Amino acid sequence: MEIQRIDAFRKAIPLLKRLNQAGFEAYFVGGCVRNYLLGVDINDIDITTDATPEQVEKLFHQVIPVGVEHGTVIVRFHDQSYEVTTYRKKDANTNEFHFSDRIDEDLLYRDFTMNALAMDIHGRIIDYVEGKKAIKNRLIEAVNDAESRFREDPLRMLRAIRFVAQFNFSIERRTLQAINNLRHLIEGVAIERIKDETDTLIKGPYFKKALYYLHHTKLIYSLPLFKEHKQFIEILEKETSHFESFSHMVALLYSYDRTITPSRWIKEWNGSNKEKKDAQLLTEALFAYEKDGMTLWIAYRLPEALHKPFVKIIDTMDEGSLSIEQLRYFTKNLTIRSRDELKVNGYLLMKWFPNRKRGKWLKEMLDAIEYAVVMNQLVNEEEKIKEWITCHPLATD
Ligand code: ATP
Ligand code: MG
Repeated sequence: MEIQRIDAFRKAIPLLKRLNQAGFEAYFVGGCVRNYLLGVDINDIDITTDATPEQVEKLFHQVIPVGVEHGTVIVRFHDQSYEVTTYRKKDANTNEFHFSDRIDEDLLYRDFTMNALAMDIHGRIIDYVEGKKAIKNRLIEAVNDAESRFREDPLRMLRAIRFVAQFNFSIERRTLQAINNLRHLIEGVAIERIKDETDTLIKGPYFKKALYYLHHTKLIYSLPLFKEHKQFIEILEKETSHFESFSHMVALLYSYDRTITPSRWIKEWNGSNKEKKDAQLLTEALFAYEKDGMTLWIAYRLPEALHKPFVKIIDTMDEGSLSIEQLRYFTKNLTIRSRDELKVNGYLLMKWFPNRKRGKWLKEMLDAIEYAVVMNQLVNEEEKIKEWITCHPLATD
């Protein structure tokens, strides 16, 4: 298919042309070319050029200097963002990189042959390392010497396996052997980078195959927490398809083994507060489900974005079965969606109990009311709630 017919490329062609007209070379490069040849969706368009970041900055109105020292800027062009990187090469002696003015050097600096492809605005592909052949054979192979590639940047070992998860490729023999030999080096890589690749890996449709590689190469034994607690690897194996998110994975692990709390998993893996919250909500819902089965309370506490992971964990744990539709049905029948919808609040309760000082009782009482209303044990009306309080004293009273 002509590249003009692909939206993502068509929009970016004028950007490449502008660089060309100013006398620079510029190519589509990496994942976008690979995905184009594979016939799958293109995530982002990366561009490689012999123009320096300063020269790129002069040609476009909106340029964000995200990593000028690595030669990378983001160019905003017709409401899209493009990563534009200056050709780089590696210094054979110091292992440091330098800017280059040759595309062949830039391509040799990349991780895998399938990613070392560039394409011009006419759809002509530059392939110095038989990257097209690797894609045809569905093989992940390091550019030239695998051990050197992984020593330069050990994250590439994990990237190899995340590409397995995404594309169902296999890892070429020498590349696999190099991962086996050098797996420990991943321990020196910044956790943010490991987390990024892991997120993509666990969400990949071929996660199970990737997990096989993680296990088989023992690379997983060098990842945070899995290193000291090998039992978690077997728990991962219980997942039948793939995870929806990092929080989903953490909640599953915790459901089987309480050695590491969700917040510790998130902390050691540099996850976000949102991920921590999600993992905790899932865990709490799973415990509630284990105890009482499906209830309105669970539906109330669980945001819709967590429905799928929740249902999947129940399925994996063989805790009976629950469908997304059932869960949605409970959600639809909720009388309130949030605490704001309660007909009472802290101020009102204080008015009802003028002799009590503001304190823990207030939160406890609101919690109890909220639970009772959600579970349809109490009608959400001021009078009814007042009445209910008198016959339901707090445990701490
Ligand atoms: P995706 O489709 O998920 O974005 P991608 O292959 O584009 O996959 P990116 O992380 O966006 O992955 O990297 C863009 C390109 O930059 C890669 O295709 C590869 O050529 C090169 N690259 C990225 N990370 C590395 C690395 N650690 N070592 C060498 N080359 C890399
Ligand atoms: Mg990319």
